[in-house]
Amino acid sequence: EVAVLRLGHRPGRDERMTTHVGLTARALGADRVWVPDNAGQSRDTVADITDRFGGPFEVDLTDSPQGIIRNWEGRVVHLTMYGEQVQDVERDIRAAHREDGDPILVVVGAEKVPFDVYEEADWNVGVTNQPHSEVAGLAVFLDRLFEGRELEREWEGADREVIPMETGKRVESTDEE
Ligand code: SAM
Repeated sequence: EVAVLRLGHRPGRDERMTTHVGLTARALGADRVWVPDNAGQSRDTVADITDRFGGPFEVDLTDSPQGIIRNWEGRVVHLTMYGEQVQDVERDIRAAHREDGDPILVVVGAEKVPFDVYEEADWNVGVTNQPHSEVAGLAVFLDRLFEGRELEREWEGADREVIPMETGKRVESTDEE
């Protein structure tokens, strides 16, 4: 299992970022995302996309993001510009996940992340050590974790599917409910 936890959410200001953390987690191969309980609008958007474009993917609210970290029975990866470089630790993280079967919790922040999170994480990982975006960091990290295999994923339960094409847009209804 690979889960994503969005830590912190400033209503209004973070609405699109929190939604995009959820959509990116879903599109790039994670199994589920937790968002803070004041991010109900983002949760609804991600659930709606999953209904239309398929899953399986779970999106849930949590009133205790740090409780999720503490109770996680697996390894915790905290994405932060201050962390070890992704290219230096990705092999160890993949080994824990694939060879040892450890579930992975990927934590991304919004504003300042409490120091406890740095201590509780098994790895603090920087996707570069430059400041950028939780959405970009998550995308690169998941692609490294899955080594590109997430791009071949099949979707279940979709009521629509995009047909890739060189030019133009084609969306077809599927027979699945
Ligand atoms: N300044 C805040 C701090 O010191 O904790 C972080 C704000 S940043 C806009 C929001 C989130 O983006 C961070 O919590 C982290 O998860 C992610 N992020 C930003 N740059 C990153 C990087 N280079 N590598 C990995 N994650 C990054």
